[in-house]
Amino acid sequence: MYEKIWNVGNHLHNVKVLRDGQGQLFVSYRQRYNQRVAADEYGPCPYCYGYYPKKILWRHNQKCKFTNAAGSRKRLALESSVLLPKSKEGSTILRRVIESMRNDEISRIVKSDSTILAFGEKLCTKRGHDEEQHNYIRQKLREVGRLLKDLR
Ligand SMILES: [Zn+2]
Repeated sequence: MYEKIWNVGNHLHNVKVLRDGQGQLFVSYRQRYNQRVAADEYGPCPYCYGYYPKKILWRHNQKCKFTNAAGSRKRLALESSVLLPKSKEGSTILRRVIESMRNDEISRIVKSDSTILAFGEKLCTKRGHDEEQHNYIRQKLREVGRLLKDLR
């Protein structure tokens, strides 16, 4: 229980770091020195509140002392993600996709509309891990951006 209380304290600190975009994350698992991991690639275990890289969260969960081990891999990822603060600018992937868009009226509409950004976030969760899909995401965002422009 002491370990869990410790982790919950770290979690509260980490939420503040992620929301403000500055400071240092307290994590339960570190990569080797030569592997840098972006802060948003970490997520909390929803059972012990320890922070692990999202791609190994499932592996941790198999031996987590506090897990109920009943959920699926997808459910675990979801339970972890709802513990994290929602950033206004979106995930790193979405930001990268949007930054590489042509700077015109359509991209300005995309950047300023919260519904389109939420849609983009959804696309990034589904396809963003694959760099080759970024072009597809950009096209989709431009499509809905044009739609909104016409509607206006
Ligand atoms: Zn855990």
